[in-house]
Amino acid sequence: MQYPEPIAKLIASYMKLPGIGEKTATRLAFYTIGMDEDDVKDFSKALVAVKEDLHYCSICGNITEDDPCPICKDQGRDQTTIVVVENSRDVMAMERMNEYHGLYHVLHGTISPSEGTGPMDINIPSLIERLKKHSEVQEVIIATNASMDGETTAQYLAKLLKPAGIKVTRLAHGLSAGADIDYTDEVTLFKAVQGRTEM
Ligand SMILES: [Zn+2]
Repeated sequence: MQYPEPIAKLIASYMKLPGIGEKTATRLAFYTIGMDEDDVKDFSKALVAVKEDLHYCSICGNITEDDPCPICKDQGRDQTTIVVVENSRDVMAMERMNEYHGLYHVLHGTISPSEGTGPMDINIPSLIERLKKHSEVQEVIIATNASMDGETTAQYLAKLLKPAGIKVTRLAHGLSAGADIDYTDEVTLFKAVQGRTEM
């Protein structure tokens, strides 16, 4: 027996999410049928809103409702330091720490030779442009994850930026190998920032 089309479609949609196979998708679809109608409507509105109301900041690449984002717009923040991260979740992690008051640049990925991702495929060109325009930037702190690709990206950026007279530092690895910045607790992250070393 085939599922009625609305259910089949919902199952197909859930299956597009990472880590969700047919079994889980089917369970979620049937769960949704049993949900309160207002909750389902709120859910569908939230799904559409993240696509319609969010943009990438034209300066730092972070996700934002307004462009430039509140962090880039805030002149009270330290304009001499930029933390380079892999994704917007990492910005949230750094902000939760509440100890860093500079700027960010979000790469949306890493250089990954194994996946064929080069410097031009991620948000590196806009970082270069940004540094050319804003000579007040003195330090770039590279906070890519402690993975092989994160390391490759850090090395590439260091080689690129140091000749321009910019201090390039890397988070200290109190972070365990392979650690994701956004899963790191605030204390460990703070120590990693404090103990950052020049590349
Ligand atoms: Zn921004």
